[in-house]
Amino acid sequence: MSTTHKPVVRRCVSCAHLKDRTRMLRLVRLTDGRIGLDQGFGRSAYVCRSQRCLQDARRRKRVQKSLRISNHPTIDAALAAELDGAESDNGELVQDSPVE
Ligand SMILES: [Zn+2]
Repeated sequence: MSTTHKPVVRRCVSCAHLKDRTRMLRLVRLTDGRIGLDQGFGRSAYVCRSQRCLQDARRRKRVQKSLRISNHPTIDAALAAELDGAESDNGELVQDSPVE
């Protein structure tokens, strides 16, 4: 237990599961009101990189609610872009390819 470092986990705004944050899409409400993707400081919302969670987040505006902002085009565009490359699984499969 002492040698391994634990992965940092975050809670998905769609399914509420805790997952390794490197496998999740992170949206950040920046201090100037813009939306950052995977970088920046501010209130953050995490979504699994799975079709189910991305679609759910988009449909129910879960990211907007989590970030406490009204609809923002960047959020919808980011979720749509992720959906294009998302796996059709339920988010449980491990992806080895790094996302950069
Ligand atoms: Zn999820």
